[in-house]
Amino acid sequence: MFIRPVFADADAGYNDSEFVIFGAPFDGTSCFRPGARLAPAAMRAASYNFETYSSEHDVDLCEVPFCDLGDIEVSTNVDETLALVRLAVEKIVRDNKVPIMMGGEHALTYPCIQAFDDVGVMVLDAHLDQRDEYGGSKQSHACVSRRILEECRVENYVSIGVRSGAKEEYDFARQNRVRFYTSEQVQSKGIDMVVQEALDYLGTDRIYLSIDIDVIDPAYAPAAGTPEPFGMSPSDVRFVIKNIASRAVGFDMVEIAPNYDHGQTALLGAKLIREFIAAKKRGE
Ligand code: MN
Ligand code: MN
Repeated sequence: MFIRPVFADADAGYNDSEFVIFGAPFDGTSCFRPGARLAPAAMRAASYNFETYSSEHDVDLCEVPFCDLGDIEVSTNVDETLALVRLAVEKIVRDNKVPIMMGGEHALTYPCIQAFDDVGVMVLDAHLDQRDEYGGSKQSHACVSRRILEECRVENYVSIGVRSGAKEEYDFARQNRVRFYTSEQVQSKGIDMVVQEALDYLGTDRIYLSIDIDVIDPAYAPAAGTPEPFGMSPSDVRFVIKNIASRAVGFDMVEIAPNYDHGQTALLGAKLIREFIAAKKRGE
């Protein structure tokens, strides 16, 4: 008898599931510390640490129908991999379920967003990710928000927690009036004010939420592909999840490179996925 490794409590069948988790073990464009391909397995393993009951949301994940499809058979080629992710997410969306992607690197968020017709996009990230190309590729993780901005209108995009980017990226963001909040603004305004402003700005009930783990301070989440000091707290990120969940139509957790710590970052990633499911279930 073999046990297929699945995310904890993801024991519903696909047809019955409201949420569909899958892994995308690809880190082919990583530029500093590769290893995000190992994150789906690390988050699945970490997910068994937690109680099924969320006291925060009064939801028992045992009673929430969700499944884990396993990992997409990614290619070594980035374009092929993105096409595979898009196909997978399109099916989940067509079937009226909420896709939850465990990356993998941030480049994988772009095909997830392409799978939706009309959606507001909220990205939590230390980086602007608005380069036109990086390392000779337009599909690098460092370009993902630029590609997303080409896909959806500027007024449908916002990022939170930013504190790093090339000058050309800041110029592009300013010239195109791309809305972003820095991690300092989160500190000074308070996360509740930032989330309220971002929601008012997006003005939609259909939001795709992408979390690049490096938005969180490396003290809490050291195993990131490109860690960046002066980040947000895990509690602030949980606050975002809690307040976006009822409008969220898709979610991803990307850029965890689990070999660079003692397991705490994958643990945090797994917990935030569980928080998302519980918060969304409660908000229904
Ligand atoms: Mn990113
Ligand atoms: Mn980043």
